Amino acid sequence: MAWDFSTEPEFQEQLDWVEQFCREEIEPLELVFPFAVYMRDPKMKALVDPLKAQVKEKGLWAIFLDKELGGPGFGQLKLALLNEILGRYSMAPAIFGCQAPDTGNMEILAAYGTEEQKERWLYPLMNQEIFSAYSMTEPQGGSDPNLFKTTAVKDGDEWVINGEKWFTSNGRNADILVVMCTNGMFIVPRETPGVEVLPFPNTHNHIRYTEVRVPLDHLLGPEDGAKVLAQRRLGGGRIHHAMRAIAQCKRAYDMMCERALSRESHGKIIAEHQMVQSAIADSYAEINMLRLLVLWTAWTIDNSSTQASRTQIAACKYTAAKVLKDVVYRAIHIYGSLGMTDLTPLHAMWSGSPAMSVMDGVDEVHKVTVARNVLKDYRPHEGLWPTEYFPAKREEARKKFADAFANDPELVKYADFMARRAGGH
Ligand SMILES: Cc1cc2nc3c(=O)[nH]c(=O)nc-3n(C[C@H](O)[C@H](O)[C@H](O)COP(=O)(O)OP(=O)(O)OC[C@H]3O[C@@H](n4cnc5c(N)ncnc54)[C@H](O)[C@@H]3O)c2cc1C
Repeated sequence: MAWDFSTEPEFQEQLDWVEQFCREEIEPLELVFPFAVYMRDPKMKALVDPLKAQVKEKGLWAIFLDKELGGPGFGQLKLALLNEILGRYSMAPAIFGCQAPDTGNMEILAAYGTEEQKERWLYPLMNQEIFSAYSMTEPQGGSDPNLFKTTAVKDGDEWVINGEKWFTSNGRNADILVVMCTNGMFIVPRETPGVEVLPFPNTHNHIRYTEVRVPLDHLLGPEDGAKVLAQRRLGGGRIHHAMRAIAQCKRAYDMMCERALSRESHGKIIAEHQMVQSAIADSYAEINMLRLLVLWTAWTIDNSSTQASRTQIAACKYTAAKVLKDVVYRAIHIYGSLGMTDLTPLHAMWSGSPAMSVMDGVDEVHKVTVARNVLKDYRPHEGLWPTEYFPAKREEARKKFADAFANDPELVKYADFMARRAGGH
């Protein structure tokens, strides 16, 4: 019976270590030096690097990469269990060498890069010697890649890139930009002349590429392969976001339960009011539904492929967004006025929850994917009535008893009587 919800003891030991390490080492650093992990200042590096060293020593660095791509090769199920812990802390992914947007860029470099490209960009990215950004979305539209206009034209031994990109996360600080052009995916060092990072938005950048020249070997993967590489890049990212969203949901839920037991109103602790209990009970069920969906999807990827799991991955993406929004809303509500402030993590979780519905493809597009794929297994019914129309089904079922009816006319009366009693049923 291969339907097992337990974690093998050796891996559980690693998870326990991760939980303790995050609580005792990462959270204090995050509280006192919130941006330390993204800074190149030697004082900050002196705080962060020893933590990274511990992670490496435990064999937990770059956990998202398969063995053949240079990572520990845990597979998606174990990664999901790890991300359920890491997702609670904004710094943890970087300290475990698995921070977006570098993860997706590393994945396509590992999968499509030449040995030389890996040497030049993948290994430095894995070691966090350099940082990267992913430039796909354009100002005129992000959901529909057919609207993208950025092009690369070959000119002698160079590609010349022209276009405009929008919402390139971390573009301003990245050493390399992975730029999706209509005719291929390109690596562009940020310092290349013609790359202009506009002043706003601050974190997710608006970038103009004007006559940007890169050598021919900066094309990643095949010419015209941009859409395939983009799918590969985003497929993994989507489920990783969902894994981390579980951690956020659990954090909000823990906070909600603690607060419900700690406040009093109208003669009771608020946890004794039924509508508060309803919020807790709904959140409990929804988080566990999300968790099972994500773990099942991770298991399916491990036992088939990302491509074969596309429907499930898409379902994880919009379900995570919905559960996160609903659970965080309930937690904020139960926190009352304190929930409206930025003095607890709830405020950031709430303002971040719409992003879950938009980044890596908007919910609507993923819902279309799910519905389209699911409908492939269905056919329209023949004739006027649906398959489950009782009178027609019953008529068909009576044929099974034809011999019995022929031998015993009383039985026909019983059947007629019961059919009348059952009515539509
Ligand atoms: C936090 C965050 C980080 C991001 N980081 C990056 C990054 O690093 N690099 C990058 O290139 N991009 C990045 N993006 C951009 C992201 O990929 C786009 O926002 C996303 O693809 C949607 O594109 P858009 O914003 O242009 O919205 P639009 O495509 O304009 O969509 C707007 C709305 O229109 C509706 N809509 C669109 N298409 C459909 C449809 N087919 N069916 C029904 N309704 C539809 C939906 O309601 C949708 O929310 C990031 C986004 C966020 C929120």
